[in-house]
Amino acid sequence: MTDPDVAIVGAGITGLSCAYYIARLGLRVRIIERQHIGEGASGHGGGHIAPHVSPGWSSLGALALRLWPTLISNLPSPTGYVQAGGLHLIGVDDALDPEAVAEYRQSQGFVVHALTAARCQELVPPLSRALKGGVFSPKNAQADPLLTTRAIALAVRSIGVEICTGTHVTGIQVAGNSVVGLNTSSGDVSTRRVILATGPWAPCLAAKVTVSIPCRPERVALMTSQQTQLITPVLLSKGGLYCRQGLDRRFYFGADGGSTSDLDFSFSRHVTFDDIHHAASSLLSLIPGLDSLRLVAVHARTVDSSPDELPIIGACSSPRGLFVAVGLEGHGFTLAPAVGRIISQLVTDHKTDVDITALSPDRFRSARD
Ligand SMILES: Cc1cc2nc3c(=O)[nH]c(=O)nc-3n(C[C@H](O)[C@H](O)[C@H](O)COP(=O)(O)OP(=O)(O)OC[C@H]3O[C@@H](n4cnc5c(N)ncnc54)[C@H](O)[C@@H]3O)c2cc1C
Repeated sequence: MTDPDVAIVGAGITGLSCAYYIARLGLRVRIIERQHIGEGASGHGGGHIAPHVSPGWSSLGALALRLWPTLISNLPSPTGYVQAGGLHLIGVDDALDPEAVAEYRQSQGFVVHALTAARCQELVPPLSRALKGGVFSPKNAQADPLLTTRAIALAVRSIGVEICTGTHVTGIQVAGNSVVGLNTSSGDVSTRRVILATGPWAPCLAAKVTVSIPCRPERVALMTSQQTQLITPVLLSKGGLYCRQGLDRRFYFGADGGSTSDLDFSFSRHVTFDDIHHAASSLLSLIPGLDSLRLVAVHARTVDSSPDELPIIGACSSPRGLFVAVGLEGHGFTLAPAVGRIISQLVTDHKTDVDITALSPDRFRSARD
């Protein structure tokens, strides 16, 4: 195999999206994945394309919403993508008003409309009556995470990207102060540019070249229901609950936190009764009529969060040639096209569409480095 211009570690949606944008600029790209495509969080997420609205995240989210429709139109296989918008609901007991939430989201650059409770119920008739109203984001969308991840993999292969699965990257080779290659379970790879798109597994690989990427793993569980009649293609959220009904008419839902367990900072893939109870009761308080729906699957995967709760995206100042795209928490599916495009601009020394200075991996360098 010819040496790649760029090697990407991780065939989740972040690594694949980086490959998609970089290969289109004419560079030779190889992705190295120790398991299968989408085997990390990417193939098992909630499928919401709904940006996290917060300083440090919003500009990436707005860019992602602009890029998704074109990305989808360039994919060779079905993804379950539907742009029906997202409705964030506000309960009668919530302190915030829909207008205040809408105003904040607009100030962060998003198109949103505050809706009355009656309008929310017109949009999604079986919603609970105990609502103050909601905020509708028409640009939000949904897609099946595994189908989408596989479709991007097919797309990048068709433009010459090599994807080596079942291959563990065990080290990063550096000469002087520059990356010169990777050590893998299938032999060494020579390359001058390496992108870590390894999600929560970034810290140990980065530590081998004394780069600190202090993101920690966080277990997140998702429930899948049986098929039922079509209720709505609109993404729904309320408090920590997120829920969508896919094109397959199943509900996919989860809820942050829980009554007995708080966040679980581990690589564990178990799902507790509390996870199920908390997610199901949150969904039923929003759509009471789903109470006889059966669950057909529950699973958990690991996302990665940084100590300051901002993504870690950028070029390391040392060693040169090392790029990082991690710390995406529960938002990496939404952000994938934006992260891929930004990283493609960094590796080719172009100005980035969005100012990512605050997201730099260098922010974790200690004074003695
Ligand atoms: C239950 C759940 C629901 C979610 N819902 C949503 C949602 O609705 N919307 C949203 O935007 N986001 C959601 N997310 C988050 C989203 O799924 C993640 O942010 C995203 O998938 C991260 O993608 P990634 O490619 O960065 O990481 P991953 O998908 O974790 O991929 C990293 C890959 O790197 C590989 N790897 C690691 N180390 C090595 C090594 N040394 N050598 C070779 N390969 C290596 C791993 O095997 C893995 O395949 C959810 C996550 C979960 C778990």
